[in-house]
Amino acid sequence: MIDVKAFRSISYGLYLISSSTPERSAGCVVNTFAQVTSEPLQVSVTLNKENHTTQVIRESGRYTAACLAEEASMELIGMFGFQRSHEVDKFEPFIVERDSQGIPYVAEQTLARFSVRVTDSFDLGTHLMFIGLVEEAEVLSSGRPMTYAHYHEVKGGKTPPRASSYIADLEAPASVNDSEKASQAPNEEGKSPSGPTEQRSPRYAWRCTICGHIEELDELPDDYICPICRATKDQFERIELAVG
Ligand code: FE
Repeated sequence: MIDVKAFRSISYGLYLISSSTPERSAGCVVNTFAQVTSEPLQVSVTLNKENHTTQVIRESGRYTAACLAEEASMELIGMFGFQRSHEVDKFEPFIVERDSQGIPYVAEQTLARFSVRVTDSFDLGTHLMFIGLVEEAEVLSSGRPMTYAHYHEVKGGKTPPRASSYIADLEAPASVNDSEKASQAPNEEGKSPSGPTEQRSPRYAWRCTICGHIEELDELPDDYICPICRATKDQFERIELAVG
C-alpha cells in the first residue's frame, strides 16, 4: 500500500533557483536543492523538464540557489513559484545581485546563496536532476530558513502541479481559515454610497486553483487577477462559507 500522507513527513527547505544566458534569465522555487557531498562540495537540484529555468540551466551549465527566509513574502514565492519566466521578468520587482559568472540571485528575503557549476544530469522522466560543484557560497542575512512545512501550514501555500513533490490528493481545497486573508478590500461597487453600510459578511469565497489564495467575496469581478500568482477569474473556484 501507498499512503500518500506519508510523503508529508519528508522535510524540505524552499529555494530560489536562478540561471541566465546572455539572452535570457529564468528562476523558480524548488524544494529539491540539497548538499550531496562535502569533498568536493556538491549539490543536487531536481527540476521539471518543462520549466523554463531547466532549459536555461541546460544552456548555461550554471545556476544559483538562494535559501528563502521564513519571513519571505507570498509575493516573492508566488512570482517565482507560479509565474512563467518567459512571460514575466520575475526578477524585476526584487533586489537582485549577480555572482562572478553573471548569474542572478534574489538578494532580499533570502539567507544564503550558492553558485553552482553543473557537472552531470540524470533524466528522471518528468524531471531532470542536476549534480554540480559549488563554486561560491555566501551568507546574506541571519534568520530561520523557510521549510516546506512552514510554507504549507503557516503561509497556506500550495504545491504547483509540476513540482516533484506534487501529490494531487494532498492539495485539497484549503479551508478559509488556513489561508492568508485577502490582500485587497472587497469590491464595494454597486452598494449604496449613502446611509449606514450593511456589514453583511460574504457568503462565498473564491479559491485560486493555481496558488491557493482565497478571496472572500460573493462575486469575483471579471477582471480579477490573483494577487499572488496573477491567475485570472476563470481559474478560481467558488467555496460556500459557513454562516456563523
Ligand atoms: Fe493564485
